[in-house]
Amino acid sequence: TDLPRVHTPLPAAPTQPLLPVVGADLEAPLAGGGVARYVNLDYAASAPALRAVADHVAEILPTYASVHRGAGYASQLSTQRYEDARATVAGFVGARPDDVVVFTRNTTDALNLLASCVPDGGEVVVLDLEHHANLLPWQRGPHRVVEVGPTLAQTLSRLQVELSRRPAALLAVTGASNVTGEQLPLGALAGLAHRNGARIAVDAAQLAPHRRIDIVAGELDYVAFSGHKLYAPFGAGALVGRRDWLDAAPPYLAGGGAVREVTTAATDWAPAPARHEGGSPNVIGAVALARACEVVAALPEGCVEVHESALRRRLLAGLERIDAVRTLRLWPDSGAAIGVVAFTVDGFAARQVSEYLAAEHGIGVRDGRFCAHPLLARLGADEGALRASFGLGSTAADVDRLLAALDRLVTEGT
Ligand code: PLP
Repeated sequence: TDLPRVHTPLPAAPTQPLLPVVGADLEAPLAGGGVARYVNLDYAASAPALRAVADHVAEILPTYASVHRGAGYASQLSTQRYEDARATVAGFVGARPDDVVVFTRNTTDALNLLASCVPDGGEVVVLDLEHHANLLPWQRGPHRVVEVGPTLAQTLSRLQVELSRRPAALLAVTGASNVTGEQLPLGALAGLAHRNGARIAVDAAQLAPHRRIDIVAGELDYVAFSGHKLYAPFGAGALVGRRDWLDAAPPYLAGGGAVREVTTAATDWAPAPARHEGGSPNVIGAVALARACEVVAALPEGCVEVHESALRRRLLAGLERIDAVRTLRLWPDSGAAIGVVAFTVDGFAARQVSEYLAAEHGIGVRDGRFCAHPLLARLGADEGALRASFGLGSTAADVDRLLAALDRLVTEGT
């Protein structure tokens, strides 16, 4: 009984990052003294910046200036970079030529903007698996929430019933769950929405860093995402999609830049995107986001998925060997998933585990309810769970450090 436990090897996974990220050599202080290489398994909250993005920001800082309103060299350069960034972001998600790219602060901001553009009285349909960013903005207007079914197929039929029962203006759905990592079948959902006279908006906060999005091929109407989850700094995100609702809606932020002509009596608002970008925009954020889009898009087709899927398989296989660990999953019949895995550990509160991982092993994971309270309740994890997530800078060594630490926790306690 004292023999060491013998296991077959875990599934192979990459030993090198797919792209260099900043902070890869960060050292974390440990509770008992000393330091350990910081293992960042929290990409789904915010991904580390790509080295190429950090270098580009450093390069453009000396010539940054306010856009659109200056004739000086730096202002012209900034304006050019800002508008080029818009074109790059449009290309990154395969936008139609007449789609609009509005730079926002993040996905939350982009979805709130879209919520303010839904035509009066138009109902929005959502599933109850959403991140709060794709739930709460819709709760401010007419909306219907569809409960997730026990299988993906049953969930799609429930949506079909709901969308055909009464017309809806919009189906708003995530591209991939920020809790379980499971992807939603966007092609099927777009078909469902359109057959029933609704548009589809995709919360791509999690999907965009991991999978190619193609608005045209996927027949999507709107896509929202954040720079800070896509290897760029905080403070810039985008809403990309159809012009008509955006041009018809009141300006999201009233102010300079959003107008064509103003008198004290009346304002002639500009069309989108300027209409919804009142005030001095976040030029550096937009340009950094665009640089991240370029670098990620330049990777060979499919290689991000191959890299992350191998890491995910290794992590899931390793977690399965730890009896006390239960991984959270929505559906037995869901197919693809991104590098996001949520789990609980019997006998330990999620916060206790995350603090142990940080203090004793220098590992960063997230714990809590991940801004998806209804989903955590549905998954029977009201008390919270842990989430490990990874991306372009992750390797098998990161996964193995987590597995070894969890194994120690359940065999030895904290
Ligand atoms: N949607 C999903 C699926 C997310 O995971 C997140 C962030 O965790 C958001 C929306 C909100 O993103 P942000 O905080 O950048 O607005």
